[in-house]
Amino acid sequence: MRFETKAIHAGQEPEPAYGAVSVPIYQTSTYAQEAVGKHAGYDYARTANPTRTALQEALAALEGGRGALCFASGMAAEATFFYLLRPGDHVVLGDDVYGGTYRLVSKVLAAWGVAFDTVDLTDLDAVRAAVRRETRVVWCETPTNPLLKIVDIAAVAGVARDAGAWCVVDNTFASPYLQRPLELGADVVVHSTTKYIGGHSDVVGGAIVANDPDVLERLAFLQNAAGAVPAPMDCFLTLRGLKTLAVRMEAHCRNAALVAAMLETHPKVKYVYYPGLRTHPGHHVAAKQMDGFGGMVSFETFDEETALDVCAKTELFFLAESLGGVESLVEHPGRMTHQSTAGSPLEVPATLVRLSVGIEHPEDLIEDLVRALG
Ligand code: PLP
Repeated sequence: MRFETKAIHAGQEPEPAYGAVSVPIYQTSTYAQEAVGKHAGYDYARTANPTRTALQEALAALEGGRGALCFASGMAAEATFFYLLRPGDHVVLGDDVYGGTYRLVSKVLAAWGVAFDTVDLTDLDAVRAAVRRETRVVWCETPTNPLLKIVDIAAVAGVARDAGAWCVVDNTFASPYLQRPLELGADVVVHSTTKYIGGHSDVVGGAIVANDPDVLERLAFLQNAAGAVPAPMDCFLTLRGLKTLAVRMEAHCRNAALVAAMLETHPKVKYVYYPGLRTHPGHHVAAKQMDGFGGMVSFETFDEETALDVCAKTELFFLAESLGGVESLVEHPGRMTHQSTAGSPLEVPATLVRLSVGIEHPEDLIEDLVRALG
């Protein structure tokens, strides 16, 4: 089965009782058992729920993994993954990861005795120098949030493997339609399904996908033990969004390329970050490992005032955190999503504006930005 077909069919057989073609929302906390210890595979809804099972099977199929586990948010997925670590372990973290990931590692994990270093993952010598005997995880995001750096997944996964560490890829920005890290040698994929996978800005969720049965078994144990599971309705919404991932991503990529091209020629724009531009330092790696360049575009203006002004003046681009929905969004990372990185090595430029380019008509989006830039 090809991607578009898997998105509609994987894990989503018609429901056996009445043949509903849409996976039902099994809104229940428990399941009546036939006899003590004898049930139809479900005993308590924190442990498992059929709507969640369907979503997990679909995500595993789309990422090309053996299994997937879903969580109440992307951060819940990340936190549950990190329960695999022990005091004394070490994490190598990309130097441009999502601010919430940095906060989790630097403020929560560090207090539990897990050490970390941030590294520019586009510099392989720096990655080799950063891994050490205690390194258990090399955590990579590509394209990164918000500077859209491109990390060579196969190369970084090779360094992690040689060091005996897991290579984890946060695939939120690309989505499995554009990039499948497990095929490139990564061990684990994490997602904020809140973004492109859900795709309609109406649900928060997260997922982990992996191949190793031992890792999957340990994560399933932790999913139940820690209990940060998604509600059945949220699984249903995410599953409904996921069915159209392919067509949405095509439209996001098309629109983002047009917006990036316009910004590149605009006199008030100092620099455009978009991996589809030939001038982007990661363009060749992106072309090699991605099936499209995505819907995120960041750009710098010449001063912070102009950046804030653009954020205030767009009308179609809503000023909002988050990304990956059908509607276009604009934000100022330094004062919004990445505020927690202020003063750290991950601090972003004050002149930076981030766009999540939606699937509206591209001419309308371009006119909106041109008007806001004045
Ligand atoms: N990873 C990336 C790349 C993100 O952009 C985000 C949220 O913006 C997360 C993880 C966290 O996901 P959530 O907001 O669903 O907890």
